[in-house]
Amino acid sequence: MAAIDPVTDGAPLSWRIRERPGMTTVEFVGEIDENADFADLRRRLRGPVAFMLGEVRRINSCGVREWVNFVRDLPHVTELSFSHCSPAIVTQLNMIYNFRGRAKIRSFYAPYVCDACGREEEQLIDVPSQGPGARPSLPTFACPDCQAAMEFDDLPERYLSFLAEA
Ligand SMILES: [Zn+2]
Repeated sequence: MAAIDPVTDGAPLSWRIRERPGMTTVEFVGEIDENADFADLRRRLRGPVAFMLGEVRRINSCGVREWVNFVRDLPHVTELSFSHCSPAIVTQLNMIYNFRGRAKIRSFYAPYVCDACGREEEQLIDVPSQGPGARPSLPTFACPDCQAAMEFDDLPERYLSFLAEA
């Protein structure tokens, strides 16, 4: 009898808010799905706000809808930025044009692989601030296991396409 695959749920979405003078940072952790409820967060956010998205590992289609509705309606937020965007977030930025709302993208994780030993790593890449169309360089990194050069493991034109409209 074929076993039904267990649903591999990620952790439900949570966030941590840090309020400092002049900037509110919200660090999101978990999976964005139909259970994501941003109502309280929307009411609380004001002024310049930075979202840290490195620990958002999965987003399903219902989650995309919740997120788009959230970021397009932040009445008291004066400036919005995304940083540490995980590959899951980058995928959505590339597919869903209003996924970012009016946010500026500050940095993102890029997938790297070592051809010598197969190790995979994500490297944090800063987005250059010199205006639309500026492309970040994708430097090579030394593999932590074997010291060979790790290479970017996607098509740059595809993975970085979200920057064209930044
Ligand atoms: Zn290696």
